[in-house]
Amino acid sequence: MSDALLSVRNLVKRFPVKGGLLRRTVAEVHAVSGVSFDLGRSQTLGLVGESGCGKSTTGRLILRLIEPTAGEVWFEGRDITGLGHQEMVALRRDMQIIFQDPYASLNPRMTVGSIIGEALVIHGLAQGRRAIEERVVELLETVGLRPDQMRRFPHEFSGGQRQRIGIARALAVSPKLVICDEPVSALDVSIQAQVVNLLEDLQAKFGLTYLFIAHDLSVVEHISDRVAVMYLGRIVENATSHDLYTTPLHPYTEALLSAVPIPDPTVKRKRIMLQGDVPNPLNPPKGCHFHTRCPIAKASPCTEVDPPLREARPGHWVACHLRG
Ligand code: SF4
Repeated sequence: MSDALLSVRNLVKRFPVKGGLLRRTVAEVHAVSGVSFDLGRSQTLGLVGESGCGKSTTGRLILRLIEPTAGEVWFEGRDITGLGHQEMVALRRDMQIIFQDPYASLNPRMTVGSIIGEALVIHGLAQGRRAIEERVVELLETVGLRPDQMRRFPHEFSGGQRQRIGIARALAVSPKLVICDEPVSALDVSIQAQVVNLLEDLQAKFGLTYLFIAHDLSVVEHISDRVAVMYLGRIVENATSHDLYTTPLHPYTEALLSAVPIPDPTVKRKRIMLQGDVPNPLNPPKGCHFHTRCPIAKASPCTEVDPPLREARPGHWVACHLRG
């Protein structure tokens, strides 16, 4: 096992589909199919793909919020896949999550001070009202909110401010790994940049490690050291941010990249429009899962053989028969 903070090996999640009078399993949704990657300390891995590709499920599997069907999750050199409930509760201090919809994840009946303070109490990180308040004030200031806002309720804040509250709650327990599950997707573009900048500042200050989940490549470009692209439950490309954006190898990455706006109006990028829809994960296609939409697919081997993820160039992994 590498010295990465987080290593994921052959992670699989299949959700059973029940049917009939006896509610037997009649099919399985292949949500995550053999995902592997390493994430180094104080690094950011962007995990990108269309809705339903399995990226959020991967985040929840890592935190054991849902149980994997197969595979391993290693954290700080320890296989955490088989840990019991109590051990996982203790470990969650090191592994936090920030959700896409901060409003849905904040209790509307609790003040912001209570929401952030609750994590301190659960993990025994501050005792007594005064110590808890002092720490809450410190956390609010760290994420750019005012101390007097601790007595307000979530509905009194804007979307960007609510996401800052979610970040403060995650930071309360001084985590090592933060899974950012589409943390800016629901925000206006101008606010997105502010939240991403805040996350970058916090990473520099506290040495945080991020798994940053997003559905398009533009959001993760600047924050990620590496980017992994997912399609239909699998990683199809994994490279340094620089290599992925300058020399993408997988046709699916090329299509995603063609949708990313370029700030320089004199530079034109040809938009690649993929035909058809993402296949049903209940019944993924044989061979390469992308062959039904791939602009360069060949009948053989693309429709027959599933391409493995292989290191085509140093540190640049791709799952494609024809590229690399
Ligand atoms: Fe396209 Fe074939 Fe490569 Fe799959 S293996 S991405 S179908 S060229």
